[in-house]
Amino acid sequence: MQDLKFIAYETLENGTIARITLNRPEARNAQNRGLLIELDEAFLAAEADDDVRVVILRGAGPLFSAGHDLGSEQARIEREPGPDQHPSFRTNGGTRPAAEGRGLQEWHYFFKNTLRWRDLRKITIAEVHGKVYSAGLMLMWACDLIVAAEGSEFADVVGTRLGMCGLEYFGHPWEFGPRKAKELLLTGDSIGVEEAHQLGMVSKIFEPEQLSDKTLELAKRIANLDTMAALMIKESVNQTVDNQGFHNALNAAFTLHQLNHSHWAERTGGYPAGTPELGVPAWNTAPPVQRADPRTP
Ligand code: ZN
Repeated sequence: MQDLKFIAYETLENGTIARITLNRPEARNAQNRGLLIELDEAFLAAEADDDVRVVILRGAGPLFSAGHDLGSEQARIEREPGPDQHPSFRTNGGTRPAAEGRGLQEWHYFFKNTLRWRDLRKITIAEVHGKVYSAGLMLMWACDLIVAAEGSEFADVVGTRLGMCGLEYFGHPWEFGPRKAKELLLTGDSIGVEEAHQLGMVSKIFEPEQLSDKTLELAKRIANLDTMAALMIKESVNQTVDNQGFHNALNAAFTLHQLNHSHWAERTGGYPAGTPELGVPAWNTAPPVQRADPRTP
């Protein structure tokens, strides 16, 4: 790993803990391609390093991650042909047309990336704060444990703002439960950190100013566990949900996600998401995200 532009990577506690920081605070840690490639390299470096036992993933700035980078100048430059195009847009389906190219690119950089991190041979902890929206959820869900600052909130707004049926990595029913997943996707409403804790999605809630210290304390406790036991615990749970259908369900939902993209591409003449002309509010004019249960903080 060299010349990291979009993330930071460090090891702590005699190399036993790797900490990855999404480092685009000015873009609210939106996930452009360069960031996702660097993140994959960082996870694989931590996996390859036999000293590392636990990996922490966090975000610099006001929030963990605002989701896919749909509109920044950086994202446009690396997507469009030219000297600064990211090479990953010329491989893995990047040069193929229409649904084939889109499906291959999303399969590699959104779906398989996220699954690979979920299956990492190390214990992973997502340390989140602020708004965790849409593809921000995917990064968080890929981790084994999620800890969150007070005031964090979670929502997937792709249904209400893009006319899409959720994310490429469709963890929603597994994380929220089936009915809550439908409610949150159909309304774009958010849940607060207390409700996320009650659902079992968030393990621990910390005060914002203590978030990184407390997360590190938790990571150190887990790093003390025998590494074989730690991996077998992770794998026993992951294989249990895989046998309940997790892996196949995510594969199936990914194909529906591609069908939904194709629907919009056909209706708009190429743009793979809903537009205001077709009745889907634009991001900047959509009503604000509401709390699903207004009684909860
Ligand atoms: Zn997509």
